[in-house]
Amino acid sequence: MKKIRVKILTPDGLYKTTEASIVNVTSEDGQRGILPSHMPIVMILNIGKMELEEEKREVYAVAGGMLYFKDDECTILCSAIENKDEIDLDRAIKAKERALEHLSDPNSDLKRAEVALKRAINRIDIRSL
Ligand code: ATP
Repeated sequence: MKKIRVKILTPDGLYKTTEASIVNVTSEDGQRGILPSHMPIVMILNIGKMELEEEKREVYAVAGGMLYFKDDECTILCSAIENKDEIDLDRAIKAKERALEHLSDPNSDLKRAEVALKRAINRIDIRSL
């Protein structure tokens, strides 16, 4: 069976290269699945879940980014990513509490707090799957 070669990059550098039979991402238009031989595509990724059918199904929390797919090569550029098992739940809960505090303070950067809240909720949701 054909596979997609997946490369995931973050500001820290290369996070992972892997092979997957399906790449499922949260794009700005909702959940999108990519199978081998898909047409070339560029997508904006929202804060959300990504699932890769690797040796087994792996679930990741993505903090937003971009996806580029061509010739069965998929490059994901994201601001942060964690595999479900890498997510520190206590840290995400604290981040959520901080974001909520900022949101109730009119002197805070509300947009920044809103995005931080989304990242925290996404991590909590995925860790709790
Ligand atoms: P925090 O306030 O806890 O740092 P954040 O949403 O501001 O959360 P990011 O800027 O998205 O954090 O990520 C910074 C780095 O920390 C990234 O490498 C990301 O993978 C990692 N990271 C953030 N939160 C968690 C978490 N709950 N568990 C594991 N790694 C995390």
